[in-house]
Amino acid sequence: MPATTFDDEIRAALAERRAALRALLESHADETERIRSDRDAEYDDEHDLEGSTLSAGWQLLDGLQRKELREIAEVDAALARLADGSYGICAGCGEPIPRDRLRARPAATRCVACASRTR
Ligand SMILES: [Zn+2]
Repeated sequence: MPATTFDDEIRAALAERRAALRALLESHADETERIRSDRDAEYDDEHDLEGSTLSAGWQLLDGLQRKELREIAEVDAALARLADGSYGICAGCGEPIPRDRLRARPAATRCVACASRTR
């Protein structure tokens, strides 16, 4: 059955994406931890620990981790839609999202036309 094959393909792509995101998230969390412990080592009472001492590097890592967590949530939502049968339906117009788009962006919730309208 071709539909099953496509679902399997998407499920595999989502699982792969999820694993890659988890790995990125983990390495960024490690880096954050390293910055934190470096900072703690330099910490003295005259510095505001939570305020101005947050480094640019930490803020960058924090932003990356937020983005990765958001993407993991999108992947999980796509897997849930696959499980309940609502996968591949555009959230904007209710039409099926073309398979080429889903292959390129397995977590997409809108067709190209609707996605470009909301941007
Ligand atoms: Zn649409």
